[in-house]
Amino acid sequence: MNLMDQQFDVVVIGAGQAGLASGWHLKQQGLNFMLLDEQRRPGGNWRNYYDSLELFSPAAYSALPGMPFPGTPGHYPSRDEVVRYLEQYADRFQLPVRQGVRVTRVMGLEQGFQITTASGECYQARAVIVASGAFSRPYLPDIPGRDNFNGTQLHSADYRHGAPFRDQRVVVIGAANSAVQIAHELAAVAEVTLATRDAIRFAPQRILGADFHTWLKWTGLEKTGWLNDQSTPVLDNGTYRKALKNGYFKQRPMFTKITSTGVVWADGQHEAVDTLLFATGFRPNLPFLEGLPVMDETGKVMQRDGRASQVSGLYFVGLPKQRNFASATLRGVGPDAGHLIPHLLRHLQRPHRVLASPA
Ligand code: FAD
Repeated sequence: MNLMDQQFDVVVIGAGQAGLASGWHLKQQGLNFMLLDEQRRPGGNWRNYYDSLELFSPAAYSALPGMPFPGTPGHYPSRDEVVRYLEQYADRFQLPVRQGVRVTRVMGLEQGFQITTASGECYQARAVIVASGAFSRPYLPDIPGRDNFNGTQLHSADYRHGAPFRDQRVVVIGAANSAVQIAHELAAVAEVTLATRDAIRFAPQRILGADFHTWLKWTGLEKTGWLNDQSTPVLDNGTYRKALKNGYFKQRPMFTKITSTGVVWADGQHEAVDTLLFATGFRPNLPFLEGLPVMDETGKVMQRDGRASQVSGLYFVGLPKQRNFASATLRGVGPDAGHLIPHLLRHLQRPHRVLASPA
């Protein structure tokens, strides 16, 4: 391939749902673009999530632009259905994806960007969309004693299924959907306590027969910023609340300390534990943007509605709450990518400097 082949209007980093939705919009505009993804196979990070994962939104609310999610609209698709859907999506729209290509650096040029890959290839683009996912750098809270624990510690990102934990005493840390789903699943084979800093905020998965997401749409709440300020609710059809009430698994306020053999609860009681499973979320993973003014001092991405605040021509799709509550979900990435298109087209039409006010 010669250098000319490597010049694009837009390079998209990541070909999970956020990258594919961006690709769909770019294709509608007839732009010359390329998606680069480090995974060898399509599907973004979905293959790496736990086996029993079932979407919290039904098929009707889990589609990317231009292609409905297959199956009955009311069913809650499995992880593997999502992988298949994403594979088919890329095929159907003939999106130009290069799998197995890891971007190591994005550098601002006078007229755009240079994108370098792990194998030393260079691409040039007038604009870059970062769609590299928000759930790949596990976050583990700094709890006193964590380094001394002799049992197993793992993050929910490394959890696949309950079998390895049979007959163990497990503490799951976290109060969001993954924590509660994993605690419930593990309780079938292990003795489980859920340790939470905040109260779990349950929301009914269905209200008067309609899915939670239908209500968000009907009420218009999903388009407002109001939900951005709320913690993510744990969607529950009654199973989890009932399980907690019946003691199927327990819930306790967060422990204060980890010892070599277990945890010390807030009331001072020590409990022996085999495994600590942290469902404590993720942090942005954007090492390839180092050198560009993209993060603030707290490590937060400086962006507005997906446009980098200080780098013209640099965009994001798939960051949590980048525009609204749905931004990092299957149904949210399409509208968010679409929202960027007019800005991106304006950017492509004018000569520009990269480090300038946003397009
Ligand atoms: P990813 O799926 O992470 O895809 C990003 C791609 O970019 C990956 O293929 C990655 O390899 C690639 N990449 C990263 N860095 C580079 C690089 N330097 N160079 C090249 N490629 C790179 N959402 C829902 O809508 N419904 C749900 O029920 C739901 N459940 C979830 C459950 C769990 C456990 C988690 C973690 C998330 C869940 N989400 C759910 C949120 C979200 O939809 C998924 O995380 C989804 O995978 C995000 O898609 P994405 O395209 O933004 O990122």
